[in-house]
Amino acid sequence: MNNPGTALGIDIGGSGVKGAVVSLVDGSLLTGRLRLKTPKRSTPEAIGERVARLVNDFDWQGAVGVGFPGIVQGGGLILSAANLSDKWVGCDARGQFERATGLSCEITNDADAAGIAEMRFGAGREIGAGTVLFLTLGTGIGSALFVGGKLVPNTELGHLELYGQAAERHASDAVREREKLSWKRWASRLDQFLERVHLYLSPDVIVLGGGVSRQHHKFIPLLEVGCPVIPARLRNMAGIIGAALAVNDE
Ligand code: BGC
Repeated sequence: MNNPGTALGIDIGGSGVKGAVVSLVDGSLLTGRLRLKTPKRSTPEAIGERVARLVNDFDWQGAVGVGFPGIVQGGGLILSAANLSDKWVGCDARGQFERATGLSCEITNDADAAGIAEMRFGAGREIGAGTVLFLTLGTGIGSALFVGGKLVPNTELGHLELYGQAAERHASDAVREREKLSWKRWASRLDQFLERVHLYLSPDVIVLGGGVSRQHHKFIPLLEVGCPVIPARLRNMAGIIGAALAVNDE
């Protein structure tokens, strides 16, 4: 399958590699979403194999946009991959996925991709042109900072140090699940993180995404950070949609 104005979006996460065909016109999903488990040994070869499998499952022959959970420099060089194999660091992800799939691939940081989708087709549509901080809460904490509607790429706020460790080790959704935190206790940890980023960046609004944002009514009302906090709209589809949109940006 390959129609003009469409791309296969793939979102690589710490627990799943997800994909769907996306309309580049309105960001809608043109197929159902497929999800494969992220392999335990999450090396470039093993993840490349999953990406190739998704391409085959969709019988896809066009361009592919991939959201990657680490710093992506110059369109493909990986500088960090906190929740995947260390083998990714220094790897040319674009080359890796293009060899695995035989197709042209665009690589974007996963949170940047999700933020772009949210700004264009989700919660961001009703927000003015100030400073918008999008955060995705999953295995890690990803961040995408928009100033006047423009992305500042690779912000990595989930790695800001909080109580002697990366903030994502203190307040991600995976930590909430692993430590069986109540909504109240998790919200208080999240608040500590949000207050710190608020102090540094003074965003006009914070948008919270990731799968857990579906349950926003359980924790957003408990947050006390000094700016409005709103839930993302595209939930965990944002990463797939935003990864696909990068194909259009070329
Ligand atoms: C990575 C980020 C990523 C986030 C969410 C963090 O550990 O460093 O690049 O956006 O997880 O996946």
